[in-house]
Amino acid sequence: MDSKKLLVLVINDMVIFPNNEVRLEYDNVYDYQMIEIVDKITDNYMLLVNPIDIDNDESLDITSLPNYGVLGKLKLKMNIPNGKTRIIIEGIKRVEILNYISEGKHYSANFKEIEIPTSDEDESYINLLIKSLERYIDKVPYIGNAIMNQLADINNLSDLCDLIASFLTIDYNHKKIYITTISPIKRCKLLIQAMNEEIKLAELEKKIDTEIEKELNDAQKEYFLREKIKMIQKELGEANSKDEEIVFLKKKCAKLKCNSKIKEKIYHEINRYETIHSNSPEVGMIRDYLDWMLNLPWGIYTKDNDDLNKVKAILDNSHYALEEIKERIIEYLAVKQNTNNLRSPIICLVGPPGVGKTSLAISIAKSLNRKTAKISVGGINDEAEIIGHRRTYIGANPGRIIQAIRKAGTSNPVFIIDEIDKMTKDIKGDPASSLLEVLDPEQNNKFSDHYIEEEFDLSKVLFIATANYIEQIPYELKDRLEIINISSYTEYEKLDIAKNHLIPKELEEHGLTSLQVQITDEAIMTMIRNYTKEAGVRELERVIATLLRKIVKKVLLEKNYSFYNIGENDLEDFLGKKKYLYLENSNKSEVGIVNGMAYTIFGGDILPVEATLYKGKGNLTLTGSLGEVMQESCQIALSYIKSNQKEFNIKSELLSTNDIHIHVPEGAVNKDGPSAGITIATALISLLTNKTVDKNISMTGEITLRGRVLAIGGLKEKVIGAHRAGIKKIFIPTENEKDLEEIALDIKKDIEFILVSNYQEIYEKLFK
Ligand code: ADP
Repeated sequence: MDSKKLLVLVINDMVIFPNNEVRLEYDNVYDYQMIEIVDKITDNYMLLVNPIDIDNDESLDITSLPNYGVLGKLKLKMNIPNGKTRIIIEGIKRVEILNYISEGKHYSANFKEIEIPTSDEDESYINLLIKSLERYIDKVPYIGNAIMNQLADINNLSDLCDLIASFLTIDYNHKKIYITTISPIKRCKLLIQAMNEEIKLAELEKKIDTEIEKELNDAQKEYFLREKIKMIQKELGEANSKDEEIVFLKKKCAKLKCNSKIKEKIYHEINRYETIHSNSPEVGMIRDYLDWMLNLPWGIYTKDNDDLNKVKAILDNSHYALEEIKERIIEYLAVKQNTNNLRSPIICLVGPPGVGKTSLAISIAKSLNRKTAKISVGGINDEAEIIGHRRTYIGANPGRIIQAIRKAGTSNPVFIIDEIDKMTKDIKGDPASSLLEVLDPEQNNKFSDHYIEEEFDLSKVLFIATANYIEQIPYELKDRLEIINISSYTEYEKLDIAKNHLIPKELEEHGLTSLQVQITDEAIMTMIRNYTKEAGVRELERVIATLLRKIVKKVLLEKNYSFYNIGENDLEDFLGKKKYLYLENSNKSEVGIVNGMAYTIFGGDILPVEATLYKGKGNLTLTGSLGEVMQESCQIALSYIKSNQKEFNIKSELLSTNDIHIHVPEGAVNKDGPSAGITIATALISLLTNKTVDKNISMTGEITLRGRVLAIGGLKEKVIGAHRAGIKKIFIPTENEKDLEEIALDIKKDIEFILVSNYQEIYEKLFK
């Protein structure tokens, strides 16, 4: 390149450094100066200058053009489709402009090349510059480490400075000063200064950022987060789901049949839900609450089946006997039809397990055409279980009453409360008194669950409670309940239940018919006697189900479609070995062992009481399942015998030189009562007189210190239990004579009952 005169390209917004290529795109309409020059230049060379202090070419004149520029080379020029021209210019080296020559719209200039000075200090400046650059890269986020690789090939300060300058994001004015500075050391200082300023700025920016971030208050954060959630929902196609939900909730609320106060409350909660921030911890709580309020069966009632005959037929069809309760339901309906506003009775069915309490209650619901709600309160010790937790409590829920009502879906279901005798009372409150609020007809039209907060009308609910032991029902509740006792079934009753209810039901459930399977009465009786031991028929039902299951399996696996007539002898094949012995009292008649009678969870059973004696000082030891009351009975019986030892022919030294031990077998008794009194006394006399009592004799009765025999409870169950154990003779208190009426003739014909009012009478019969 010989010519010292070249066209000048005035650049307004950027600096092109030596050894640096720049790609530019020019708009052909607006950047005509550039286009013209580029078109005119010869040999592709030009002078690149940045005007000293002007912003646009209108006011451009020679005085505003600098004394130094960069020799540039056009490396590429091409028109690109969008009406623009793309050029690539390479900066070559600094030159000194000698003079500018105006050529119409643009300039040309004479220039001369410059010798770039070097110095001994260059090396140290290079180090200084690199260090600054490293700090710069560290602090200023826009520049990457890539530049360091390019620096490695450069060993003079001037080129190093220019390369670094081309990378830096320092502002245009600084760059303009830099490009017109010739001394590399001065340029180096300029760069270091510019970098330091940038670092300071970057630090300041960071500081401000963190402060701003800190100052972003919760509301703003929430705003951003909510916006984000919206974006996410939008992406997932769930946009506006909350708006739609609100509309849905309001529509649902409008349809509710609750009173206006409750509606207002629900609307209020919906509004809260609408306005509350979606990340507030309350969102879920309000939504849950709304869910409950909108799904309770406010004002929804089923219409009772008022056809008394039909009700009776349904009940008879599903359950054998149980006349008292069936009658009570019919009466209730009859009176209800006569009066318009009848309070529902609160019935409590009391009896051993499996006698049909729960299933009958379900049948009652069916017969009345009502829904069923069912809870069990056994083991509950916290009143919140009944009446709910307050909403402020974390994880709060309504109590079981409201939960069951929601499940039932109507406000007048038959509501079964199982195991009402098994609630406990402790520090968390008394669930029985909460239950009282639920059951009390005076209050339960305004039942208030802690969670729901609003009153719910339970007055149309027909409550049926169940319990095993009447004695264990909390006193205050017992007062309100209409108790109906259901006692154990005798084996003949069980036979009827099996034939008329259980077998047809189970056949149907197993997809069989009576044309395929028949079970003889003897076989059913054997199932009752030898495969079950229970007061009710639950186990029997299970045994029948097992038998039918095995038959179905045989039919399908062995393709054995023959008619099955199951007799007594077939049972072992299907059910395995007999589990219980019948009418075979396994106890031997022994001195000191006498059969008492107990009312247990299986209904009734015999309870052998054992007494023994050994050398000692007249002490009494008691073991086995003896509650406090029974221990007292032992003391009383012993005192009674001691005070009458002469009449009973007991040698006095026997009592003073021996210790006596009384044992009642574990597991035989669940309930602690005084009814073993006469049995204990008899076992002691047998022991002390060395006379056996026949193992086929049993007895039940409380004894006093004077030997009076007092009435006991549960006679029917006890007698049924004793009968199945093969007992032939039973001593019972005279006061219990009336209870014999309840006992089936089938049983009475097998057993001799001896009524006693004083222990003397037993003594006479057994020991004289
Ligand atoms: P509970 O509630 O007294 O413990 P369930 O109601 O659960 O007893 O009864 C157990 C099973 O015995 C049920 O399948 C029921 O149908 C049947 N059952 C009980 N008593 C009778 C009865 N009198 N007639 C017909 N089936 C009965």
